[in-house]
Amino acid sequence: MSDLKGALIGCGFFAVNQMHGWRDAEGARVVAICDRDPKRLKVVGDEFGVARRYTSAEDLFADGGFDFVDIATTVASHRPLVELAARHGIPTICQKPFAPTMDDAKAMVAACARANVPLMIHENFRWQSPIRAAKAAIDSGAIGEVFWGRVSFRSAYDVFSGQPYLATGKRFIIEDLCIHALDIARFLFGDAMAVTARTRRVNPDIAGEDVATMLLDHQGGITSVVDCSYATKLPIEPFPETLLEVDGSKGTLRLSQGYHLCIHSPDRMEVTDVEPRLLPWASLPWHNIQESVSLIQQHWIDCLRSGREPDTSGRDNLQTFALVEASYRSAAEARTVRLKEFL
Ligand code: NAD
Repeated sequence: MSDLKGALIGCGFFAVNQMHGWRDAEGARVVAICDRDPKRLKVVGDEFGVARRYTSAEDLFADGGFDFVDIATTVASHRPLVELAARHGIPTICQKPFAPTMDDAKAMVAACARANVPLMIHENFRWQSPIRAAKAAIDSGAIGEVFWGRVSFRSAYDVFSGQPYLATGKRFIIEDLCIHALDIARFLFGDAMAVTARTRRVNPDIAGEDVATMLLDHQGGITSVVDCSYATKLPIEPFPETLLEVDGSKGTLRLSQGYHLCIHSPDRMEVTDVEPRLLPWASLPWHNIQESVSLIQQHWIDCLRSGREPDTSGRDNLQTFALVEASYRSAAEARTVRLKEFL
């Protein structure tokens, strides 16, 4: 079977990881790239040996010659680019956050459905191998029936030097980071019905909130806490680890700093090292995220080939994005917000 041909739009900070992922992927390769900034286009084109280069997405699609597009731009351009891809009948991956608003996200899902093309949101955190190890343990029944969980990401890592736009947006940590933790909460505990959120800005040099705490009511009756901070100065910086606490009827699961997965029940007390692989192109401490990029991109190829809906399809990710919107509304209005208000 011949390789699927991909095009990538947006050759910025994070796209380099995606380009490495495509180079390693089985059954796909990137044949064209696009960025409106010619300097970034040149850096990525030269590093990955891609000859077809465009500064306009319209020109890229007009020339065609690819089977899918990977949109790695920031959020403002997601809707126009996804709709452009749908008009050309091209299966599309779009980076998180899905869109500036819920209405935009719904319109993007509708456009791809009308064109009958798959849409996957690049929601990679649930593809991190430590998170998948925790999910497998929960699904095996090791701790019995889950009734409570916590998904936690607390750090003081300087994310602003690599991504300066994060310091200037009115929205920051919920839209950029909690979005991943909220998706992990859905992945582990099921869809949520309601959220109660509190936010705070600690760093005076940024525009948005850098601390957020969310209480989620899941449909199956599980309660979870999702808490994220970029203002938490710890003795050993945990970035970019997501930590988990899960309580079940038979025992407990903890994913703690240093990638230790502890499962405790009456018949078992086991601590496993679930540190992700350090891929040849990866760098510490980013290797956890970098491995998940490779895994979600391989999943996309497998889904395209088999005609299966990707796990983080646009349709699925509306639930995660609704949690983001509901969290902001809950914090602003100091009340519990039901997701129905957005879905
Ligand atoms: P960036 O600003 O470094 O890169 C974005 C690039 O897109 C820029 O080079 C810009 O010129 C280009 N661009 C923007 N609009 C365009 C358009 N219409 N046509 C062509 N090129 C266009 O941003 P980044 O930090 O790489 O983030 C990109 C996206 O990736 C964001 O949505 C961010 O939230 C997401 N991200 C995801 C993860 C993850 O783990 N999934 C991590 C970091 C960033």
